[in-house]
Amino acid sequence: MTAKPYKRLFYTCLLALPLTLWGLLAPHQVQAQEVLNIYSGRHYPADKILYERFEAQTGIKIRTLEGKTSVLLERLKLERENSPADLFITVDAGNLWRAAEADLFQPVSSSVLTSRIPEKYRNPEGLWFGFATRNRIVFYNPARVRVPPTSWQDLADSRFKGKICVRSSSNIYNLSLLASFVELWGEAKATEWAQAIRDNMARDPSGGDTDQIRAVAAGVCDLSIGNHYYYARLLASDKPEDRAVTEVVKPLWLGESDMGVHANISGAGVLRSAKNKRAAIRYLEFLATEDSQLVFSEANNEYPVVLGVAVAPVLERLGVHKTSEINVSVYGENQPIAQRLYDSVGWP
Ligand code: FE
Repeated sequence: MTAKPYKRLFYTCLLALPLTLWGLLAPHQVQAQEVLNIYSGRHYPADKILYERFEAQTGIKIRTLEGKTSVLLERLKLERENSPADLFITVDAGNLWRAAEADLFQPVSSSVLTSRIPEKYRNPEGLWFGFATRNRIVFYNPARVRVPPTSWQDLADSRFKGKICVRSSSNIYNLSLLASFVELWGEAKATEWAQAIRDNMARDPSGGDTDQIRAVAAGVCDLSIGNHYYYARLLASDKPEDRAVTEVVKPLWLGESDMGVHANISGAGVLRSAKNKRAAIRYLEFLATEDSQLVFSEANNEYPVVLGVAVAPVLERLGVHKTSEINVSVYGENQPIAQRLYDSVGWP
């Protein structure tokens, strides 16, 4: 009499067991959190803001490995298809070109990206896209340079002999700069320019762009070559000694009246190894939104690439300038030539 209900209970439990097990395991299978693995050669607070906002908006978890671009590139070349990375982010079109040359990127087709990012700031095959621009310009001390140079060619004039500070030629920013001149003027004129700047140096290259700006303020040299955001950082610094540098040193947007100011990019591409391609493209599209474009400007002093997006107040002080129409891909294509030319004139 009592055996039957127990039996029924036994069979009910037996049937329920797989369902209970499914219930325990299912959350990991059905609702597994989507992830996005990023290798980044950038390490700015702006990037952290962007990661956090993307995670909050999409629920996709971002995992990052940050390091020197050259080190990450070597790592990606070793890992190839086995890499856990989905996306590679870095600065300078020359670096993105190196990654594309090593066949690390896969083409991405996104109407969001092609409609928002100007053609000159992205790879023609969709291998990488630029999200913010950085300009390589000149800084000078107006108290000591009464007639400032009017063009990049003019900076090579012998009246600036012993007056210029600039970093080494192996630096990617300098390689991209000369690569653009090779494109605009041809190899012979680009070589003459490099030779003349070498002759005009106040000292052998040492330190980064900020060191050159400080050297101008300290009177070691009268002019320097550097990226605009290093100056913007000093301008917006809460240290009085940094702001004092910007009282003495002023920016000179060479190229504005002729070929356009030299513009380079921060950019990213989806890797061939990507297991989370959908999330990777979603992140690229997220970087092209107006809100993200503002973050590049406000938190890192870079100019937005998307037309019509406002710039940070510190960049308003520096002004918005007419930039070169060259496709930044050229900086990579001409990079080996640029390095050879620098070596030929003995620019350390
Ligand atoms: Fe930099």
